[in-house]
Amino acid sequence: MSNRRIETAIRGPQAYELARRALEQMQAAGVWPTPLNFELWLHYVGDPQGALGQEIERLLSNRQPFSEAAAEDLAARYLSLTRLSDEICDAGAVLNRELSTVSQVIADAQSSQKAYGETLAVASNQIETAEAADGLASVVRSLSAATEKVGGETAALERRLEDSVQEVSRLRAHLELVRRDAMTDALTSLANRKAFDETLEQACAEAGRSGAPLTLAVIDIDHFKRFNDTWGHQTGDQVIRYVASVLGRIAKVPRTAARYGGEEFALIFPGETPEVVADALNQVCKEIASRQLRRRSTNHDLGTVTVSAGFASLRADEAPTALIERADQALYASKRGGRNRVTDARLLDGQQAA
Ligand code: C2E
Repeated sequence: MSNRRIETAIRGPQAYELARRALEQMQAAGVWPTPLNFELWLHYVGDPQGALGQEIERLLSNRQPFSEAAAEDLAARYLSLTRLSDEICDAGAVLNRELSTVSQVIADAQSSQKAYGETLAVASNQIETAEAADGLASVVRSLSAATEKVGGETAALERRLEDSVQEVSRLRAHLELVRRDAMTDALTSLANRKAFDETLEQACAEAGRSGAPLTLAVIDIDHFKRFNDTWGHQTGDQVIRYVASVLGRIAKVPRTAARYGGEEFALIFPGETPEVVADALNQVCKEIASRQLRRRSTNHDLGTVTVSAGFASLRADEAPTALIERADQALYASKRGGRNRVTDARLLDGQQAA
């Protein structure tokens, strides 16, 4: 069921039934009735066989706790896509309308030109047979009237065409905003998971073609759960925003910084060597750990947060998922090694070989 159909269904005769079933199933699964979870469950109940429904089904059957991070991840992957496809449907309808206007304008222009041509042909005959000045004057008058008429019609058609051109360019600007929105993580304004997946895939393909280096880093906030439990989700969100702001500052094009899920981030470094990446990540760790955070509502000292990072460089013919896996292993090595540090996946290769 598309977003629009959900929107229609929750205002239609089956509205309360759908909402009730969603809440019942959330309660049965021990899922908090947050607005986001409720939206996800409306889609699940409305279309259990859809991609989102199937994914929720899979998470529940694995008996995994349905965390906020899981909800955000699902929303980024499926709801933004659904919204995007609804917007595309709207755009399609506007384009259709504008295209029929343009076709009508062209048809009207053709018939106006045809009528003018016929008037000219008649006038030409009349000129040949006109005997007196009076006859000629009458032909000239009718020609002048026909010219004026076609001129007026052409001006009106031009105005209609101009309106269509403006409508289409408004639509293009709106679609660009929607596309950016669908690719952006709402909390941090970094690229979201979907944008990350697409960017990494393209970057891997490009590096495979050009042979240029490509490095992927994954970064995770240390002891985030403890922080959240102590200070609450709102302060936890601020910490996520803080880490994101530091990552965003170093992620100048062609680098990409993304929120990968919950408190985990990813950075793509196209064309950069592992040594440069290691320097950048060490700098990030240092900067994040150096800031004394304050709880804005009470001015409580929150202390500092640290992050751990791991990175891996693309190998020949390596799939993006394998690259992520190696960067993840390097991240976990940083966690095991005491956190607030950066690990190069090549070190793990050495350890495995030894
Ligand atoms: P934000 O609250 O929207 O702040 C955006 C930027 O405004 C900050 O970027 C910083 O440059 C400036 N700013 C806002 N409030 C203050 C302030 O009280 N003192 C100073 N010196 N500058 C301020 P920045 O530092 O990169 O932080 C990005 C986001 O990270 C912030 O967004 C906020 O969500 C979070 N954050 C950073 N530091 C703290 C903190 O100490 N406590 C809390 N609760 N959140 C923080």
